[in-house]
Amino acid sequence: MIEMRDAMRAVKTEDPEAIVLLAETSTMAFADISGPDDLYLPVGSMSKASSVGLGVALAQPDKNVVIFDGDGSLLMNLGSLVTIGKQAPTNLVHILLANDVYALTGGQPIPSADRGDLPGMGKAAGYASVLTFDNIEQFASDLPAILNEDGPTFVVLDTVTEVTNAADWKNYPRPPKGWKVQAPAMRDALGGE
Ligand SMILES: [Mg+2]
Repeated sequence: MIEMRDAMRAVKTEDPEAIVLLAETSTMAFADISGPDDLYLPVGSMSKASSVGLGVALAQPDKNVVIFDGDGSLLMNLGSLVTIGKQAPTNLVHILLANDVYALTGGQPIPSADRGDLPGMGKAAGYASVLTFDNIEQFASDLPAILNEDGPTFVVLDTVTEVTNAADWKNYPRPPKGWKVQAPAMRDALGGE
């Protein structure tokens, strides 16, 4: 199994210039590994990191755009798989932190646990490639190719579960700059209007 922070560190090491988008639980994990100059965006709209990431990838075709999504989060926004498959941004890497639970709300099993085939859904939706990993060494080894080859790429990581106490989640650490600060900062850094 893979610790989500290890996967995040691997991405930052391999491409420090990558634009990173974060969904739900990954937002708090990224607080532990992010630096002051990182271009990241904690997507505050539940489940919408994949949709926002698609837009950023289309607008910034010369940069790698990496989404850290949750499996419960993706199930709330499954249609984004099809839209990404259709739009097919070659610079998009959609990483699914798969743990079979809604970690942010207490660890309830997600509907696809033990039955659904999320990697298969990515293939059916038209991603250029779909990869699954259950150890960080193999993921880190393959990451240069993942970031350099034409996507969109769907990467499903067998991820260690970190259940958040839902009653206390607002007190968990966040990246130092949240959505309202980071969204305009990213827009400025990327030359947008
Ligand atoms: Mg999950």
